[in-house]
Amino acid sequence: MDDPLALHFQQTLARIEAAAAHCQRPAPLLLAVSKTQPAAAIRALFALGQRAFGESYWQEAQGKLAQLADLPIDWHFIGPLQANKTRPVAEHFAWAHGVEREKIARRLSEQRPPQLPPLNICLQVNLDGEASKAGVAPEDVLPLALAVKDLPNLKLRGLMCIPAPRADAAEQRAAFRRMAELLEQLRAAGIEGLDTLSMGMSDDLEAAIAEGSTLVRVGTAIFGERG
Ligand SMILES: *Cc1c(COP(=O)(O)O)cnc(C)c1O
Repeated sequence: MDDPLALHFQQTLARIEAAAAHCQRPAPLLLAVSKTQPAAAIRALFALGQRAFGESYWQEAQGKLAQLADLPIDWHFIGPLQANKTRPVAEHFAWAHGVEREKIARRLSEQRPPQLPPLNICLQVNLDGEASKAGVAPEDVLPLALAVKDLPNLKLRGLMCIPAPRADAAEQRAAFRRMAELLEQLRAAGIEGLDTLSMGMSDDLEAAIAEGSTLVRVGTAIFGERG
């Protein structure tokens, strides 16, 4: 295979398969993170069979979504969600992974066009309490989930995290294990329909899969370093 995109895509799929087989879990969905990549790269990856793509900034995504409107892509918004920027996410995406406040969820629900299916959402968890990072503190996940689970035009699917980078595989796994425990806590509280742990990126997807990731968000390993 001379085409580096095809090669890196196949290698990523193989990594995911191997990690899932290793721990006898189902392979998670691959979300191709296409931020900073041109529409042509997304079109090329779509032609190789990829359907789910993740974008982080509406300003950047807008033109690409328009250029790719002929393709049945599942668009996931994985960036920070500010209150004044919820409308395009509600109108153009199938998923939003970065919900961290009730107010944001309410706006997404109100702004979701009625002819579209409910917007799938994940609550972003700030596992490490990093001031620089978005997300709800672990102890506040349950109250937030209870507050948003019945909003009419949303479907609460699960949790998402971007843990602090750790080189040690055991430490990576410990962070992801906490996410699995938090999801269990929500289920135990009677919240239904939770099937998603959005966790694992290019550098830590094996650890995330070992702890039950159902969706890995991978950019660099597929498209190469971002410029
Ligand atoms: C950029 C980004 C990714 C992809 O990271 P890579 O290390 O390039 O795989 C995943 N999730 C989020 C939220 C991102 O912003």
